[in-house]
Amino acid sequence: MRVIVIGCGLAGITTAYFLREQGADVTVIDRAAAPARETSFANGSLLTPSLADPWNSPGIFTTLVRSLGHEDASMLLRLGQLPQIWRWGLKFIANSSRSRYEATYLENVRFSIYSQQVLHDLLQQHPLQFEHAADGTVQIFESEKAYTDGIKVGHWLKQVNIAHRPLDLAELVELEPQLTPIQDRLFGGIHYPADEVGDARLFCEALHVVMQQMGVEFRFSEQVRRIEMKNRRVESLVTAREVLRADRYVLATGSDSPLLSRQIGFRLPIVPAKGYSLTLPVADPSQMPRYPIIDDSIHAAVVPLGHDRVRVAGTAEFAGYNTEVRPERIANLQGLLRKVYPDLPIEDRKLETWCGLRPMCADGRPIIGGSPLDNLFVNTGHGALGWTMACGSGKGLADLMTGEAPAYDLTPFSYSRF
Ligand SMILES: Cc1cc2nc3c(=O)[nH]c(=O)nc-3n(C[C@H](O)[C@H](O)[C@H](O)COP(=O)(O)OP(=O)(O)OC[C@H]3O[C@@H](n4cnc5c(N)ncnc54)[C@H](O)[C@@H]3O)c2cc1C
Repeated sequence: MRVIVIGCGLAGITTAYFLREQGADVTVIDRAAAPARETSFANGSLLTPSLADPWNSPGIFTTLVRSLGHEDASMLLRLGQLPQIWRWGLKFIANSSRSRYEATYLENVRFSIYSQQVLHDLLQQHPLQFEHAADGTVQIFESEKAYTDGIKVGHWLKQVNIAHRPLDLAELVELEPQLTPIQDRLFGGIHYPADEVGDARLFCEALHVVMQQMGVEFRFSEQVRRIEMKNRRVESLVTAREVLRADRYVLATGSDSPLLSRQIGFRLPIVPAKGYSLTLPVADPSQMPRYPIIDDSIHAAVVPLGHDRVRVAGTAEFAGYNTEVRPERIANLQGLLRKVYPDLPIEDRKLETWCGLRPMCADGRPIIGGSPLDNLFVNTGHGALGWTMACGSGKGLADLMTGEAPAYDLTPFSYSRF
């Protein structure tokens, strides 16, 4: 079976890897010059089943309305976007009832745990270097109410085998001594020991090297301009250089997926949700924090990477396909870093800023599986969970396409739910 995968971010490269492993003849095509140059480039680095909650939580409508005109809102809707996203927005809000939110949350957690297992199996075979650490994550809370609510969530997640350890203030500071300077304003924390971190771009680059040795063809700096179809099948892909043909095709183009699917007659309910990250070297590695610190109330995380870098990532902006790095959003994240680690010796001069567009699906789950076209498959819409779910998504789709007995039932993620 000859397959062309469009997109070489986390979703595309993992799908291509597992397809090749199962014997397919695979080509990956991407408009960028290397793997993971768009949303998979400098994300929050978190592999966190514990944080697999969909963003359309009960109350999201009010949050979005309140954000209008507030540049510093952690989740910001720009008024000018309403004409483009109203259809998606109605679905997003319709899925924010308590029952739907909880069902999606649990499904996402189960799938994230599966994905973590697939990643571990892959690493047994190929010990890739991507600053992987498996110490868990720590959520911090400033008030008793927020802490108690957090503990309730922790207990609730036990039904899907997520372990947690509540930490009072003394225990929190003992676990992560770098929080000592801010202990006066903290109430407590929760340690989720099974969460992990790793640099997604380094992972994709390392996997790319392995896949070249496995015989996967990569075509970089080549954009798919048009998808030709006939009788409910993809006939060919038209790029600036060539017309390419295969037996089957995979659409793994992140936030651009709905733009391409519309060309061939079907809608994917996905919009871009812009987010930012800052990556900074720590001048004195002996002061490196050990744990990723999650402040979920503001959708942001401060994550140690390797021996001498920290990354702050988060915030969400519904601003279309605009990828301008806005100074006020960067200032927001710098403020957050300083709020969590006021004394950390960071080298501001070497600050790396980045923004990316999360492919956000209206019901908070990715879309993995077949499409209305017989030989086109999709792997997209992972929103804020594309790294956490990458390996499970790639393996799951490859199983489906090659007819292997699927280790995970992908029905909850199929396109047919729309
Ligand atoms: C600030 C931020 C923080 C995040 N933090 C986390 C986190 O901590 N944990 C987590 O699990 N997830 C996180 N995410 C989400 C995660 O990064 C994304 O879900 C994931 O990267 C999406 O991967 P993808 O392969 O679908 O898309 P992409 O990485 O964008 O890949 C799509 C690829 O398709 C290519 N492409 C598009 N159109 C075409 C075309 N016409 N022809 C050829 N190529 C094309 C693009 O060049 C691109 O390389 C975060 C996202 C952001 C923005």
